[in-house]
Amino acid sequence: MNDFTWFSSQTDGQDHAVLDVAFAEARARGIDYAGLCGHVVWPAPLWAPPGRRCARCTAITAARSAPVDASTGANGGSGGEPGRFRPTRRRRRRGGGPRVA
Ligand SMILES: [Zn+2]
Repeated sequence: MNDFTWFSSQTDGQDHAVLDVAFAEARARGIDYAGLCGHVVWPAPLWAPPGRRCARCTAITAARSAPVDASTGANGGSGGEPGRFRPTRRRRRRGGGPRVA
C-alpha cells in the first residue's frame, strides 16, 4: 500500500510523489510540501491533466515498494542519470510462489 500521492506541480509541469504524512503536516502548518525528490510542489488545479511523472520520484517510489536490495542501492542517489529510471533485474514473479488471495 502506498503512503504517498502523486501531485502535479505547476512550476515544472511534472507529477511528484508526496508522502501523505508530509502533505498532512504541511497542510496543518500552512507550509509548502515537497515531493520525494525534494521538489517543492505547487499543486496544479485538479482539472489539469496529469503531467509526466518525475523521474526521481518514480525511482524513489519504485525503490520504496520493491524489496530492499542492498547490493544495488536501487535508489540511485547520484542524481546523474540522464534517462529513465531502469529497474534492476530483479525477478519478481519467479517460480509462482504461494498466492495469497
Ligand atoms: Zn519529483
